[in-house]
Amino acid sequence: MEEIREVGDRTYQLQVRIERSTYVYSVYIIHEEQAALIDPGPASILPAIERAMEHMGLGNLAYIIPTHIHIDHGGGTGSLAKRFPEAKVVVHELGKKHLVDPSRLVTSTKLAFGDNYETYLGPILPVPESRIIIPSDGMEIAAGKRKLRIIHAPGHAPHHIAVFDLKTKGLFCGEALGMRYPSAPESPTPSIAPPGYDMEIYLQTARKLAALNPRTLYYAHDGVGHTPDALIAALTKNTKIYTEGALDILRSTENDTEALSKIRDFIADRFGVDRAEADEGMAVAGFRVYFRKQEILPE
Ligand SMILES: [Zn+2]
Repeated sequence: MEEIREVGDRTYQLQVRIERSTYVYSVYIIHEEQAALIDPGPASILPAIERAMEHMGLGNLAYIIPTHIHIDHGGGTGSLAKRFPEAKVVVHELGKKHLVDPSRLVTSTKLAFGDNYETYLGPILPVPESRIIIPSDGMEIAAGKRKLRIIHAPGHAPHHIAVFDLKTKGLFCGEALGMRYPSAPESPTPSIAPPGYDMEIYLQTARKLAALNPRTLYYAHDGVGHTPDALIAALTKNTKIYTEGALDILRSTENDTEALSKIRDFIADRFGVDRAEADEGMAVAGFRVYFRKQEILPE
């Protein structure tokens, strides 16, 4: 069901499939004396994390770092924090209130995943405020002897952060540098979800992360990238093409089902993404919200 492997110097990747989602989801663990876990995923995968940690001989966590609070990345933060009561939770200031009081997160999760989301994604538990660290942009935390730099990385969501391991130059980019479909691993496309997507900010963040000269990209969806320059260049190009293509499609129809079908055809045609893998339901809503905010599409 899940797979744990060492993908860098004491850096482990746990790959899990989330029910009703077509893509593979990655949790990363940096195994140091003060271990850090990046992107806990939904609470339903907590048993898989526990099995992986046991396999690694790791008994505790010092840091839990959701790159952002969307349920598939950060939904399990509260459950994990409860399981490891010594761990600190590192979250962007704009995400903090939703971890402390997840009521709005629960409402938006119900809209996106249905009223019964808990049955397959698990509960969204609150995180006690005293456990939270709010990182300034560039703040460094010590995971044992290793320094992890927290980078503000908005665009997918305003509260998105990335983690840069100064020892290995590995960049844990969450969804800030897009996602890779298994059918098109060299051609990442931006991850679009309501209400936070913003193309200009997404591109700014891509430039900012490229300037770190990362050696490896650790994606939240589909694996590890060993050619960061080429991957970030492809993402930059694809972000513009995808956003322009989506605008044409959303101008042509107000019907979400039709728009989704056209968007799947578009990314299959332009980026070589297998249509059946294209989990773009969120993208339709995400682009609509964005174009309305930009006043390009009518309310
Ligand atoms: Zn997200």
